[in-house]
Amino acid sequence: KKPIAFAEDTAVPPENLADFIMEFRELLDEHKLDYGMFGHVDAGVLHVRPALDMNDPQQEVLLKKISDQVVALVAKYGGLMWGEHGKGYRSEYAPAFFGDELYAELRKIKAVFDPHNKMNPGKICTPIDSNAQLVQVTDTKRGTYDRTIPVVFKEEFAPAMSCNGNGLCFNYDTTSPMCPSSKITGDRRHSPKGRAGMIREWLRLLAQQDVKVDALNAQQFKSSWWSRMVNTNSAKSSTDFSHEVFEVMDECLACKSCSAQCPVGVDVPDFRAKFLSIYYQRYSRPVKDYLVANIEQMAPLLAKMPRMVNFFTNLGLSKVLLKESIGYVDTPLLSTPTLANLSAGYTPFSLETLRQIQTQNNANKTVLVVQDPFTSFYDAQVVADFMALAKKLGSDPILLPFNPNGKPQHVKGFLDKFARTAQSTADFLNEIAKFDIPMVGVDASLLLVYRDEYTKTLGEKRGDFSVLAVHEWLSQMASEALSNAQVTTPPATALGLFTHCTEKTALPVSERQWQQVFAKLDVAVDIVSVGCCGMAGTYGHEASHLANSIGIFELSWEQAIAKYPVEARIVTGYSCRSQVDRLVGAKPKHPLQVLNQLLLQK
Ligand code: SF4
Ligand code: SF4
Repeated sequence: KKPIAFAEDTAVPPENLADFIMEFRELLDEHKLDYGMFGHVDAGVLHVRPALDMNDPQQEVLLKKISDQVVALVAKYGGLMWGEHGKGYRSEYAPAFFGDELYAELRKIKAVFDPHNKMNPGKICTPIDSNAQLVQVTDTKRGTYDRTIPVVFKEEFAPAMSCNGNGLCFNYDTTSPMCPSSKITGDRRHSPKGRAGMIREWLRLLAQQDVKVDALNAQQFKSSWWSRMVNTNSAKSSTDFSHEVFEVMDECLACKSCSAQCPVGVDVPDFRAKFLSIYYQRYSRPVKDYLVANIEQMAPLLAKMPRMVNFFTNLGLSKVLLKESIGYVDTPLLSTPTLANLSAGYTPFSLETLRQIQTQNNANKTVLVVQDPFTSFYDAQVVADFMALAKKLGSDPILLPFNPNGKPQHVKGFLDKFARTAQSTADFLNEIAKFDIPMVGVDASLLLVYRDEYTKTLGEKRGDFSVLAVHEWLSQMASEALSNAQVTTPPATALGLFTHCTEKTALPVSERQWQQVFAKLDVAVDIVSVGCCGMAGTYGHEASHLANSIGIFELSWEQAIAKYPVEARIVTGYSCRSQVDRLVGAKPKHPLQVLNQLLLQK
């Protein structure tokens, strides 16, 4: 059941409101319905959302029945059906409410501005000389289609089914993180609502075909590489609706703003990954997908000879080959010196060391650094600076061995591989968590995968390990040390804080917490309102997405970043720092790096 806004926005004279509400509630109680009721008492306006299961034909019938009853009730109390909005789908009641004379005038106006009834046809009124029909409450609605989708499909793709269509994700504010994809393409199919609708239609069409309903993700479409190649070659002439769905999923940055900002938590990256895993059981994957999905396995090996790898990556010929044959651009260079070199002076990791720390009650004077594939291998100085910062704050940092995070596999829909990666890393982190020593990861968008995708994929097998973001650790565990820290001369002007969109939507207090951390050192921080930077992991490195990646950056980041001198820009996301670096030419620092510079050695 979902609350449906069909008896919505009635307005009666305020002096009649109390009696009107009493009778309205009796009416809904008669139908044994749950409902939400709120409104503006001073204006007599009421918003009512009865909860209905529109997949149930019996309940769908109630829509018309209750609408008619509410119309009669509103008339009885001398009110109007529409205080503010909601006229379109209840247009059949318009003639009665406006009255013959006024309604005829409305139709004349419609005829002047829209003589061919093109704009919102059937809503409110039709042109005066037209025979076109008004929209009816009983017209075909989404439930008619949704009820043909098998329950197992619905459960598998629950986020797509739960979209209630309220349209909050049609967001045009360029400084809001909500859906950079639809902002840059201007195509509503690329909004979370559009993507959820595409998935529902795809499921409906699958249900009409000979598709087993036991479980969509049970590899039932798996085919040989030869069949996949044949299918791919004939894809252009194919009528398979999957290709249309693929097109809109491919443009998604997997930034997860929808997951946190949609009021019902429509998580597009979740069903996008499932869709891709099914789509590529029948069609060939591009090589770049394998490159991205295996980046965590390759990076530790490449980091053993970073200068040589960087030399070849930097060659003009390599760049052309990577772009033309794989579709990958601006390949990042490995860090030199490597993290292994930079962390050499710190306490090395061993289980025995952790055991001793625990028995000597030194857990709170230690911090375990959880590595991620991007900062560890491509921005190692950030991890090293975190270790230096921890040391200055009186904690002994220990770098945990690298364990793949799995996010690149999830984003590309390699869900079997992701499940194995997630289980293996969760097992390791649960083992470490037994020592009760705080664990911290420097890239919030990657550690959030432990909290969300690991939980969704592994369920109870995820265990209960916890990895803190840097700002969480600073606020919770190092707050006192920060207050007592000795600092160099703070910057004269405010720093500009730019946070990763996954981070600021999933952890809405993160910006404020960073601000409070810096306030302890008397350093002012502006929270800069920006949308997505356009990089989002590897999205911005894919040649097919390059133009949109740059376009998204230009929507809000370009102007905002230019307002701050290079040394005053603090940027939490690895992706965002890389994007600024390649498009502006000066790599900004992570806030922890500026903090580290400000603190004097103990
Ligand atoms: S905000 Fe969420 S529920 Fe509303 S239309 Fe968008 S995806 Fe659907
Ligand atoms: S993940 Fe980001 S780009 Fe994709 S639909 Fe959600 S908000 Fe839009």
